[in-house]
Amino acid sequence: MSETILSVKDLKVNYGGIEAVKGISFDVPKGSVVTLIGANGAGKSTTLKAIAGLVKPASGSISFKGESITGKDPSLIVSKGIVLVPEGRRVFARMSVDENLRMGANIIKDRAQIKQDLERVYDIFPRLRERMKQQAGTLSGGEQQMLALGRALMTNGSLLMLDEPSMGLAPIIVEEIFKIIRQINESGTSILLIEQNAFLALTTASHAYVLETGKITMQGKSSDLLADKRVKDAYLGA
Ligand code: ATP
Repeated sequence: MSETILSVKDLKVNYGGIEAVKGISFDVPKGSVVTLIGANGAGKSTTLKAIAGLVKPASGSISFKGESITGKDPSLIVSKGIVLVPEGRRVFARMSVDENLRMGANIIKDRAQIKQDLERVYDIFPRLRERMKQQAGTLSGGEQQMLALGRALMTNGSLLMLDEPSMGLAPIIVEEIFKIIRQINESGTSILLIEQNAFLALTTASHAYVLETGKITMQGKSSDLLADKRVKDAYLGA
Protein backbone atom coordinates (compact mmCIF):
# COMPACT_ATOMS: atom_id res chain seq x y z
CA MET A 1 0.00 0.00 0.00
CA SER A 2 1.37 3.39 -0.92
CA GLU A 3 1.23 6.26 1.50
CA THR A 4 -1.65 8.76 1.11
CA ILE A 5 -0.75 12.44 0.93
CA LEU A 6 -4.30 13.81 0.66
CA SER A 7 -7.47 12.24 1.92
CA VAL A 8 -10.93 13.71 1.39
CA LYS A 9 -13.88 12.14 3.21
CA ASP A 10 -17.59 12.83 2.73
CA LEU A 11 -16.90 16.37 1.61
CA LYS A 12 -19.95 18.58 1.15
CA VAL A 13 -19.84 22.16 -0.07
CA ASN A 14 -22.83 24.46 -0.47
CA TYR A 15 -23.20 27.86 -2.03
CA GLY A 16 -26.20 29.27 -0.22
CA GLY A 17 -28.95 26.80 -1.05
CA ILE A 18 -27.02 25.10 -3.86
CA GLU A 19 -25.27 21.83 -3.03
CA ALA A 20 -22.24 21.94 -5.30
CA VAL A 21 -20.40 18.96 -3.76
CA LYS A 22 -22.60 16.30 -2.19
CA GLY A 23 -20.42 14.08 -0.05
CA ILE A 24 -17.40 12.92 -2.00
CA SER A 25 -14.43 10.85 -0.84
CA PHE A 26 -11.13 10.27 -2.58
CA ASP A 27 -7.42 9.89 -1.91
CA VAL A 28 -4.24 11.03 -3.58
CA PRO A 29 -1.41 8.53 -3.01
CA LYS A 30 1.94 10.18 -2.40
CA GLY A 31 3.86 10.75 -5.63
CA SER A 32 0.91 10.05 -7.91
CA VAL A 33 -1.25 11.97 -10.35
CA VAL A 34 -4.96 11.67 -9.59
CA THR A 35 -7.61 13.24 -11.78
CA LEU A 36 -11.19 14.34 -11.26
CA ILE A 37 -13.09 14.41 -14.51
CA GLY A 38 -16.64 15.51 -15.20
CA ALA A 39 -18.82 17.93 -17.12
CA ASN A 40 -19.17 21.67 -16.50
CA GLY A 41 -20.67 22.38 -13.11
CA ALA A 42 -19.96 18.91 -11.69
CA GLY A 43 -18.19 20.45 -8.69
CA LYS A 44 -14.56 19.92 -9.68
CA SER A 45 -13.32 23.47 -9.10
CA THR A 46 -15.30 23.71 -5.89
CA THR A 47 -13.55 20.60 -4.60
CA LEU A 48 -10.11 22.12 -5.26
CA LYS A 49 -11.18 25.40 -3.68
CA ALA A 50 -12.35 23.57 -0.56
CA ILE A 51 -9.00 21.76 -0.28
CA ALA A 52 -7.16 25.07 -0.70
CA GLY A 53 -9.33 26.69 1.98
CA LEU A 54 -10.91 29.18 -0.42
CA VAL A 55 -14.41 27.89 0.31
CA LYS A 56 -15.50 26.34 3.60
CA PRO A 57 -16.90 22.81 3.57
CA ALA A 58 -20.42 22.31 4.98
CA SER A 59 -19.25 18.95 6.32
CA GLY A 60 -16.69 16.22 5.81
CA SER A 61 -12.96 16.17 6.37
CA ILE A 62 -9.79 16.90 4.44
CA SER A 63 -6.47 15.67 5.70
CA PHE A 64 -3.01 16.32 4.33
CA LYS A 65 -0.04 14.24 5.42
CA GLY A 66 -2.22 12.80 8.15
CA GLU A 67 -3.20 16.17 9.61
CA SER A 68 -6.67 17.75 9.35
CA ILE A 69 -6.79 20.93 7.26
CA THR A 70 -10.57 21.07 7.09
CA GLY A 71 -11.80 24.67 7.07
CA LYS A 72 -8.33 26.13 7.71
CA ASP A 73 -7.15 29.42 6.20
CA PRO A 74 -5.67 29.39 2.69
CA SER A 75 -2.36 30.85 3.89
CA LEU A 76 -1.91 28.06 6.42
CA ILE A 77 -2.80 25.44 3.80
CA VAL A 78 -0.22 26.88 1.37
CA SER A 79 2.39 26.84 4.11
CA LYS A 80 1.74 23.11 4.61
CA GLY A 81 2.64 22.48 0.97
CA ILE A 82 -0.59 22.53 -1.04
CA VAL A 83 -0.57 24.83 -4.03
CA LEU A 84 -3.46 25.58 -6.40
CA VAL A 85 -3.08 26.76 -9.97
CA PRO A 86 -6.55 28.16 -10.59
CA GLU A 87 -8.50 28.05 -13.81
CA GLY A 88 -7.78 30.84 -16.27
CA ARG A 89 -4.06 31.25 -15.46
CA ARG A 90 -4.11 34.46 -13.52
CA VAL A 91 -0.79 36.24 -13.83
CA PHE A 92 0.10 39.77 -12.77
CA ALA A 93 -0.23 41.31 -16.23
CA ARG A 94 1.82 44.45 -15.62
CA MET A 95 4.67 42.69 -13.90
CA SER A 96 7.51 40.93 -15.67
CA VAL A 97 7.87 37.15 -15.86
CA ASP A 98 10.64 37.29 -13.30
CA GLU A 99 8.62 39.45 -10.90
CA ASN A 100 5.65 37.10 -11.24
CA LEU A 101 7.81 34.14 -10.29
CA ARG A 102 9.28 35.98 -7.32
CA MET A 103 5.72 36.71 -6.10
CA GLY A 104 5.24 32.95 -5.85
CA ALA A 105 8.12 32.83 -3.44
CA ASN A 106 6.69 35.33 -0.99
CA ILE A 107 6.51 32.83 1.84
CA ILE A 108 10.12 31.77 1.39
CA LYS A 109 12.47 34.11 3.19
CA ASP A 110 15.87 32.82 2.17
CA ARG A 111 17.34 34.63 -0.88
CA ALA A 112 19.61 31.78 -1.81
CA GLN A 113 16.62 29.45 -1.78
CA ILE A 114 14.64 31.83 -4.01
CA LYS A 115 17.51 31.96 -6.48
CA GLN A 116 17.76 28.19 -6.55
CA ASP A 117 14.00 27.81 -7.03
CA LEU A 118 14.02 30.39 -9.83
CA GLU A 119 16.79 28.46 -11.58
CA ARG A 120 14.79 25.26 -11.29
CA VAL A 121 11.70 26.92 -12.79
CA TYR A 122 13.71 28.45 -15.62
CA ASP A 123 15.29 25.05 -16.31
CA ILE A 124 11.83 23.51 -16.56
CA PHE A 125 10.51 26.38 -18.72
CA PRO A 126 13.28 27.67 -21.01
CA ARG A 127 10.64 29.83 -22.70
CA LEU A 128 10.14 31.74 -19.49
CA ARG A 129 13.88 32.25 -19.14
CA GLU A 130 13.98 33.79 -22.62
CA ARG A 131 11.13 36.09 -21.62
CA MET A 132 12.30 36.91 -18.10
CA LYS A 133 11.90 40.68 -18.53
CA GLN A 134 8.75 40.57 -20.67
CA GLN A 135 5.47 41.89 -19.22
CA ALA A 136 3.33 38.89 -18.28
CA GLY A 137 0.22 40.37 -19.91
CA THR A 138 1.93 40.25 -23.31
CA LEU A 139 2.76 36.52 -23.13
CA SER A 140 0.81 34.06 -25.26
CA GLY A 141 -1.86 31.93 -23.58
CA GLY A 142 0.45 28.94 -23.38
CA GLU A 143 3.29 30.99 -21.94
CA GLN A 144 0.92 32.45 -19.33
CA GLN A 145 -0.07 28.92 -18.33
CA MET A 146 3.63 28.07 -18.01
CA LEU A 147 4.09 31.15 -15.85
CA ALA A 148 1.14 30.20 -13.63
CA LEU A 149 2.65 26.73 -13.22
CA GLY A 150 6.12 28.14 -12.64
CA ARG A 151 4.84 30.51 -9.99
CA ALA A 152 3.14 27.60 -8.22
CA LEU A 153 6.43 25.66 -8.28
CA MET A 154 8.14 28.56 -6.52
CA THR A 155 6.24 27.69 -3.33
CA ASN A 156 7.93 24.26 -3.26
CA GLY A 157 4.67 22.50 -2.41
CA SER A 158 4.36 18.74 -2.24
CA LEU A 159 0.81 18.67 -3.67
CA LEU A 160 0.09 20.63 -6.81
CA MET A 161 -3.58 21.12 -7.73
CA LEU A 162 -4.22 22.06 -11.34
CA ASP A 163 -7.58 23.41 -12.50
CA GLU A 164 -8.02 22.92 -16.26
CA PRO A 165 -4.45 23.53 -17.42
CA SER A 166 -5.42 22.87 -21.07
CA MET A 167 -8.20 25.41 -21.20
CA GLY A 168 -8.21 27.58 -24.31
CA LEU A 169 -4.82 26.38 -25.55
CA ALA A 170 -3.87 25.00 -28.96
CA PRO A 171 -3.29 21.21 -29.01
CA ILE A 172 0.45 21.49 -29.54
CA ILE A 173 0.81 23.81 -26.53
CA VAL A 174 -1.38 21.51 -24.46
CA GLU A 175 0.98 18.66 -25.27
CA GLU A 176 3.93 20.75 -24.14
CA ILE A 177 2.22 21.73 -20.89
CA PHE A 178 1.29 18.13 -20.12
CA LYS A 179 4.80 16.94 -20.81
CA ILE A 180 5.96 19.39 -18.18
CA ILE A 181 3.22 18.31 -15.76
CA ARG A 182 4.47 14.71 -16.06
CA GLN A 183 8.03 15.88 -15.55
CA ILE A 184 7.04 17.79 -12.38
CA ASN A 185 5.35 14.63 -11.10
CA GLU A 186 8.39 12.50 -11.90
CA SER A 187 10.50 14.85 -9.80
CA GLY A 188 8.37 13.87 -6.79
CA THR A 189 5.42 16.28 -6.60
CA SER A 190 1.98 14.72 -6.11
CA ILE A 191 -0.67 16.13 -8.44
CA LEU A 192 -4.44 16.50 -8.28
CA LEU A 193 -5.60 17.36 -11.78
CA ILE A 194 -8.93 18.65 -13.01
CA GLU A 195 -9.37 18.48 -16.72
CA GLN A 196 -12.25 18.78 -19.18
CA ASN A 197 -10.22 16.83 -21.70
CA ALA A 198 -10.87 13.39 -20.27
CA PHE A 199 -8.52 11.59 -22.64
CA LEU A 200 -5.61 13.80 -21.61
CA ALA A 201 -6.53 13.47 -17.95
CA LEU A 202 -6.81 9.68 -18.07
CA THR A 203 -3.57 9.24 -19.96
CA THR A 204 -1.72 11.43 -17.45
CA ALA A 205 -3.17 10.21 -14.15
CA SER A 206 -2.81 6.78 -12.59
CA HIS A 207 -6.16 6.96 -10.82
CA ALA A 208 -9.35 8.80 -11.70
CA TYR A 209 -12.69 9.79 -10.24
CA VAL A 210 -15.73 10.75 -12.30
CA LEU A 211 -17.76 13.56 -10.78
CA GLU A 212 -21.38 14.10 -11.84
CA THR A 213 -23.49 16.86 -10.28
CA GLY A 214 -21.54 16.82 -7.05
CA LYS A 215 -21.19 13.06 -6.62
CA ILE A 216 -18.55 10.50 -7.55
CA THR A 217 -20.17 8.03 -9.92
CA MET A 218 -17.12 6.03 -11.01
CA GLN A 219 -13.57 5.56 -9.89
CA GLY A 220 -10.65 3.35 -10.68
CA LYS A 221 -7.37 3.00 -12.45
CA SER A 222 -7.22 5.44 -15.34
CA SER A 223 -6.45 2.65 -17.77
CA ASP A 224 -9.65 0.85 -16.71
CA LEU A 225 -11.75 3.99 -17.04
CA LEU A 226 -10.25 4.68 -20.47
CA ALA A 227 -11.58 1.32 -21.60
CA ASP A 228 -14.96 1.68 -19.88
CA LYS A 229 -17.91 2.01 -22.25
CA ARG A 230 -19.77 4.50 -20.04
CA VAL A 231 -16.71 6.72 -19.81
CA LYS A 232 -16.12 6.42 -23.55
CA ASP A 233 -19.71 7.36 -24.37
CA ALA A 234 -19.97 10.23 -21.91
CA TYR A 235 -16.47 11.76 -21.92
CA LEU A 236 -14.30 10.48 -24.70
CA GLY A 237 -16.42 11.20 -27.76
CA ALA A 238 -16.32 8.87 -30.73
P1 ATP B 1 -16.36 23.92 -14.62
O1 ATP B 1 -15.54 22.93 -15.32
O2 ATP B 1 -17.43 24.50 -15.48
O3 ATP B 1 -15.61 24.93 -13.83
P2 ATP B 1 -16.81 22.46 -12.19
O4 ATP B 1 -17.03 21.00 -12.20
O5 ATP B 1 -15.49 22.95 -11.79
O6 ATP B 1 -17.22 23.07 -13.58
P3 ATP B 1 -17.83 24.12 -10.10
O7 ATP B 1 -17.24 25.36 -10.63
O8 ATP B 1 -17.24 23.48 -8.93
O9 ATP B 1 -17.94 23.05 -11.25
O10 ATP B 1 -19.38 24.40 -9.81
C1 ATP B 1 -20.25 23.44 -9.20
C2 ATP B 1 -21.62 24.08 -9.00
O11 ATP B 1 -21.55 25.12 -8.04
C3 ATP B 1 -22.21 24.71 -10.26
O12 ATP B 1 -23.60 24.45 -10.28
C4 ATP B 1 -21.94 26.19 -10.06
O13 ATP B 1 -22.90 26.98 -10.71
C5 ATP B 1 -22.02 26.34 -8.57
N1 ATP B 1 -21.15 27.42 -8.08
C6 ATP B 1 -19.80 27.52 -8.25
N2 ATP B 1 -19.32 28.62 -7.65
C7 ATP B 1 -20.38 29.25 -7.10
C8 ATP B 1 -20.55 30.45 -6.33
N3 ATP B 1 -19.50 31.21 -6.00
N4 ATP B 1 -21.80 30.78 -5.94
C9 ATP B 1 -22.86 29.98 -6.25
N5 ATP B 1 -22.78 28.85 -6.96
C10 ATP B 1 -21.56 28.47 -7.37
